[in-house]
Amino acid sequence: MEYTFSLEFIYLIASVTYILGLKMLGHPETARKGNLIAAGGMSIAIFGTIFLYQGEVPQIVYTLIAIAIVIGTITGWVVAKKVDMTKMPELVSLFNGMGGASAALIGLIEFHHNIGDQLSILTIIAGMIIGSVSFSGSMIAWAKLNGSMKKPVRLPKYNIINNLFLIGLLAAATYIVMSGTDSQLYLYLLFFAALLYGILFVLPIGGADMPVVISLLNSFTGLAAAFGGFLYGNMVMLTGGILVGSAGTILTLAMCKAMNRPLANVIFGAFGDSGAAGGDDSEIKGSIKEASPSDVAILMNYSQKIIIVPGYGLAVAQAQHIIHELEQLLISKGIDVKYAIHPVAGRMPGHMNVLLAETNVDYDKLVEMEDINPEFQSTDVVFVVGANDVVNPAAHNNPASPIYGMPILDVENAKHIIVNKRSMKPGYAGIENELFYNQKTSMLFGDAKDALTKLVNELKNM
Ligand code: NDP
Repeated sequence: MEYTFSLEFIYLIASVTYILGLKMLGHPETARKGNLIAAGGMSIAIFGTIFLYQGEVPQIVYTLIAIAIVIGTITGWVVAKKVDMTKMPELVSLFNGMGGASAALIGLIEFHHNIGDQLSILTIIAGMIIGSVSFSGSMIAWAKLNGSMKKPVRLPKYNIINNLFLIGLLAAATYIVMSGTDSQLYLYLLFFAALLYGILFVLPIGGADMPVVISLLNSFTGLAAAFGGFLYGNMVMLTGGILVGSAGTILTLAMCKAMNRPLANVIFGAFGDSGAAGGDDSEIKGSIKEASPSDVAILMNYSQKIIIVPGYGLAVAQAQHIIHELEQLLISKGIDVKYAIHPVAGRMPGHMNVLLAETNVDYDKLVEMEDINPEFQSTDVVFVVGANDVVNPAAHNNPASPIYGMPILDVENAKHIIVNKRSMKPGYAGIENELFYNQKTSMLFGDAKDALTKLVNELKNM
């Protein structure tokens, strides 16, 4: 590869923007700017490569690159602009899959250029396998997130099958690297086997375990890109890949902690047994209490401390603005109000933070699960809006439940619990919630936006 000094300098600047951007993404207040800075760095790196690269490139390649950039930019722009907030997690999965596919394609293209160079072939095969698994796995995750694949699919003895398949895949990869074969057939067989493994890997996972697998696939894409960067000796690609890979790994570990699943169980598939059954059929006995918006308004009006628990339904209803109005109204009445943020609430890591950031909620009011849990005891009213699995006590007290062992928000400790949702339907994990039958709980039925609008109007009149 032939790089000029100015291109290396551009890569250095781009690498710095990634690091800076990533750091800024760590806080909602700076996240938007961080994203722009990193994207700017990426654009500089792309155009620098196109215009400053000194190697021989046929004219047709430039034309193809230009066409690809135009198609990619327009598609990405339109899709990202048009997508509903609720469909954002699926889109992220789709984009992640495309990154994996690109990394895998590098392997397919570069293999025959590098026959005889064992280190390069090792790099190519590693990047191709990881990228392919990330691509096909992300496509399955996409189908699961958009609801077209509702139940986890389990082959009999799927754990054993998956692990044997993985061992076979690694053995075949080792053979290709060690033998120095130039067989394109072997390469393509390995490619399709890796795609198949990605499908087998994600298919059995369901229910509340999806966040772990999504962040794991994210780190796979970064790793696959890093192998590409190593192959080309391209520092900016290597840095970008390493940053995505390590950020994804850190997120995976955080999600494992949030779901209380050991990482080894995630990788080797055992966690499907305990965690992703997609529903226990035990029926909860008891009656529910219904409350009207005016009942809830009276209760809130006489409270000193209220904690709001947002969940996926808040995003579905697009009720983030009205909940912020409710919070402001309560604060103006001298009430202490906070939001309790569960790490897997919603459908993507950080979903609730992103949603509430849209309405300029004061970030100090968003309190993480570990910090807020001790506070429920001293809370007059906990207001659960469109959340279900993240407040399901079955995680504590029903060993048969698919979410048993997952840390939840301990809302049961509050004096009063109000739950807003449209019906008694279960959440993503597909299981009933005994919280709704708790004596302290009242159900405020209805779409979150409608119910909150009525509630705010009632409170305004008090
Ligand atoms: P849940 O999916 O458990 O529950 C959401 C609830 O919102 C539903 O019970 C639904 O009840 C209600 N709802 C839906 N639409 C509306 C509306 N318009 N107005 C009011 N309520 C509404 O959400 P949680 O946030 O509690 O939990 C997230 C779940 O998703 C976990 O199981 C998590 O593991 C999983 N997951 C999370 C990912 C992540 O990265 N965060 C990724 C993939 C999965 P009803 O229909 O009766 O209204």
